[in-house]
Amino acid sequence: MAKKKVQTDEIHQKESSESGSSYTLKDLPGVGEATVKKLQEAGILSIRTLAMYPMSKLMDEAGIGEKTAEKIIKVAQDIEKMGFKSADIIWEKRKTLNKLTTGSQNLDDLLYGGIEPGAVTEVFGEFRTGKTQLAHQLCVNVQLSYEEGGLEGNALYIDTEGTFRPERIIQMAIAKDLDHNMILKNVIVGRAYNSDHQILLIKESPKIISEKNIKLIVVDSLIGHFRSEYIGRGTLANRQQLINSHIHDLLRLTETYDELAVIFTNQVSAKPDVFYGNPITHTGGHVVAHGATIRIFLRKGKGEQRIAKVVDAPHIPESDSVFSITEDGIQD
Ligand code: ADP
Ligand code: MG
Repeated sequence: MAKKKVQTDEIHQKESSESGSSYTLKDLPGVGEATVKKLQEAGILSIRTLAMYPMSKLMDEAGIGEKTAEKIIKVAQDIEKMGFKSADIIWEKRKTLNKLTTGSQNLDDLLYGGIEPGAVTEVFGEFRTGKTQLAHQLCVNVQLSYEEGGLEGNALYIDTEGTFRPERIIQMAIAKDLDHNMILKNVIVGRAYNSDHQILLIKESPKIISEKNIKLIVVDSLIGHFRSEYIGRGTLANRQQLINSHIHDLLRLTETYDELAVIFTNQVSAKPDVFYGNPITHTGGHVVAHGATIRIFLRKGKGEQRIAKVVDAPHIPESDSVFSITEDGIQD
């Protein structure tokens, strides 16, 4: 009745493809129905997700003892071949990476082709600089074919501010001659009512990601709820820790699923008491800044124009580009 559990030496003989192995959670040593259930309840549905899970988090969230946690993570990592790789293999993968178009050639050029799957992109700027507009546009564009700059997948939108507008999706879809009903159907929206709910929606997302072929996750905005709920210095450390863990949940998703792009927005405020240097302060502090792989800073230009600057990207020099927000969406 009980199937034989996987042994470490078998793993190396069995070829596992890049997009996941043929093993399931049940094949892990010491994992029975009850543990599988605990893992699933914590949102861990695959060996790959488990392989990326920090041990303490696994113990906390799935209620699994230290010994078992350590062991199953190790086996999962072996299956997923998470050891060292030579740079040419990494390059082989990056070379063929499809990017997600923003709709503006200027902005795409700035980003070396567009938004990158497998990474977390932060879009930050003051109120009305176009963060939410860009997020809507990406939900439409992700559904385009690869030739058109899409990822041939769907979008998951976590709306924390109540600013998601299907009307805008319709306008943007019509502007591209797309069937707007289909486009709307393929944008899955979760309205997050508080920070706990927001964290939970992301934890519950793996099921939707697989079922609905999600290639883009938007969190608009990332820390609005945290900022309003955790006021006063006493809870600041606690708040930062929660934000940090939330960003890592997002990062892990991009590493777990092939070709999944994550973007989050972050509102920054002008600090009137700062006269020198950049008067824009970045909310969420270093925790947020260090969590994102690529950061795009938006500011207002003339009329419908907006100026984007990439900051801190590992492979893109700091530079500016101009795009527009029109009724048809994001354009040059
Ligand atoms: P935020 O950075 O605060 O999220 P938004 O993305 O909501 O800002 O951008 C708001 C701006 O988008 C508005 O100031 C307006 O310039 C532009 N905008 C919104 N809807 C439309 C529309 N239907 N047609 C043209 N421009 C629009
Ligand atoms: Mg907004």
